[in-house]
Amino acid sequence: MPTDPIDLELILQSITDGVVVVDQHGLVLYANASAEQIFERGSLVGRDLAIPVKDDAAYHEINLIWPSGIGWAELRSAPITWNGQRAYVIGVRDITERKQSEQGLRLAAAVFESTQEGLMVTDAKNCIVRINHAFTEITGYTEAEILGKSPALLHSGRHDPAFYARLWDSIKRTGNWRGELWNRRKSGDIYPELASISVVKDTHGQLSNYVAIFSDISALKKTQSELDFLAHHDPLTQLPNRYSLLSDLSYGMQRAQRDGKFMALLMLDLDRFKDVNDSWGHPAGDEVLQGVAARLLEQRRDVDLVCRLGGDEFAVLLNHVGDAKDAGNIANAMIKALSEPYTLSSKVQVRIGASVGISIFPDHCNTPELMLQQADSALYKAKAQGRGCFAFFSDDLTLAARERIDLEVQLRHALTHGELRVFYQPQVDIASGRMVGAEALVRWQSPQEGLIAPARFIHAAELCGLIDEIDTWVLEQTCLQGQRWLAAGFAPLTLAVNLSPYQFLKDDIDETVAQVLRDTGYPAEHLELELTESALMQREAQAILMLNKMRGLGVRLAIDDFGTGYSSLAYLKLFPLNVLKIDKRFIDDIPLNRDGMEIVNAIIAMAHALRLTVLAEGVEDQAQLDYLKSRGCDMFQGYLFGRPMPADEFEKLLRV
Ligand code: C2E
Ligand code: MG
Ligand code: MG
Repeated sequence: MPTDPIDLELILQSITDGVVVVDQHGLVLYANASAEQIFERGSLVGRDLAIPVKDDAAYHEINLIWPSGIGWAELRSAPITWNGQRAYVIGVRDITERKQSEQGLRLAAAVFESTQEGLMVTDAKNCIVRINHAFTEITGYTEAEILGKSPALLHSGRHDPAFYARLWDSIKRTGNWRGELWNRRKSGDIYPELASISVVKDTHGQLSNYVAIFSDISALKKTQSELDFLAHHDPLTQLPNRYSLLSDLSYGMQRAQRDGKFMALLMLDLDRFKDVNDSWGHPAGDEVLQGVAARLLEQRRDVDLVCRLGGDEFAVLLNHVGDAKDAGNIANAMIKALSEPYTLSSKVQVRIGASVGISIFPDHCNTPELMLQQADSALYKAKAQGRGCFAFFSDDLTLAARERIDLEVQLRHALTHGELRVFYQPQVDIASGRMVGAEALVRWQSPQEGLIAPARFIHAAELCGLIDEIDTWVLEQTCLQGQRWLAAGFAPLTLAVNLSPYQFLKDDIDETVAQVLRDTGYPAEHLELELTESALMQREAQAILMLNKMRGLGVRLAIDDFGTGYSSLAYLKLFPLNVLKIDKRFIDDIPLNRDGMEIVNAIIAMAHALRLTVLAEGVEDQAQLDYLKSRGCDMFQGYLFGRPMPADEFEKLLRV
């Protein structure tokens, strides 16, 4: 079929590839619409496109310079005859897009390999299909070792299943997860990494891969924790600083509130610290501050926090204190420890003191800032009161706590300096009117205050743990004295000694009693131990066990102050007792208060039913004694017959 030039032109104009015809010199003789589009130069006819042409068919790529940038074109040329002259037809195809994506891939591959970040690509089933060099550097696994495996191989065991569940949930929902996680190297080391995991989808929108990119942040973490330490600690003493204190306080408050406990904040300020700096220089001052820190750390209990707030100001947070007095005790111990001399490296000895302000949570405050503020104002008070002491934010607490601590110090002194005495009060058999025993009652002969009654110091002694020593001492003195009276030929008496509930609930009280009896030679059957209801009720099973052990020693047991506690007579039959002492308050009702007298009646009757000897305490007049006698009460003790008196005075009663 003969060629129709019009038809050819139509075909050429309608194809997407460019077609250009150039003459032997390279000048354009013809260009179709696509070619003009590709070259972006308007009409091409007559122009020199500088396209290299050869006589044989050739293929090459050229760059296209566009106003908007550079592109790529693929050229195929072939010689033809055009209007009778030698010419070349050139097929032009824009391959910019293909070229770009090829280049992009090359670039991506280069980046993939050269980046410092570890990269891992998994397939849709989450099997590892590609890793980069940095991955091997960080994890220690080579391609050969890890391709085809699951990323779970890297798990450190530090995250629970819930963590991974959240991670996958985020990937499913948003196509991405980013965060810190702990993984395990081939060597077994666990390390922190900052990772980002993304989903890759193919052209149809189907999930094809996961890409994880991560960096090892162990070095970063280390500096972070170093920075953290610096931010929270004082560089000189290494103690936590004010910032730490505040955060511990708010945490502690929540816990204290939950557990229903008290917390105390002690704010300490050194007295005469400026003198140290002024006379020995700042390095000496620094040494003293370090010494102070060390002593405070020694004094603190495990749960307490010692901080340096700055300058010569320190704070101690007492988590869990029983009451305000405990906090006072601890403050006192700290003041004492800090006032011991400090020997500096220059061999110089310096002395400083300390004042302490105390605030109590939840009594005084409910926010960390307030607690700090109140301890601070209490500290001012302590300083104003002459330094070297503590003060509470509230005045009543200060007074009560100081009194108790003073008392404690003096009581220790009394014990070691022989200021305690044992007095004896006669116990009388009502039927015969004869003295058959005595109760040993402790007294404190203070050089300053004279004779002090036990009501003023027994409770304090119980709280500070001195009661053990006091009771054991009274027991020894009494047995020694009893043995002396026996040796002197006096008729045997039953000597009664009081045991505090604290002492009684100690595991080795029976051994202490046995030891004292052995040491003094006093016969067990002449010793009576008085216990209170509270001692028996506190730990019933343990109390019964202990009472039986004592009975085994041969001593008598009495329940003291009966009626002041919660015990019922029915309850009493559980305990192996010999004597019941009716408390003075019921005896006081005789002869005027009918109800009280009925109670005395009932107690006597029921005690007898339990085969207990009944002793009435605090009998002061004859009417009381007459009534008790008429009701069959066995014994009494009271001013009517005799007050508690020193041993030598008591001995006079024995002689008559
Ligand atoms: P208690 O064991 O009930 O001792 C009886 C108390 O009543 C004694 O007080 C005694 O002096 C007092 N009293 C006796 N007859 C009369 C009276 O007719 N009228 C009045 N108004 N009082 C009378 P005291 O010696 O002051 O002892 C008080 C408490 O201290 C004792 O009560 C006892 O619980 C405790 N106590 C005394 N000595 C010791 C001891 O060595 N160890 C322990 N743990 N506690 C002791
Ligand atoms: Mg008693
Ligand atoms: Mg009593």
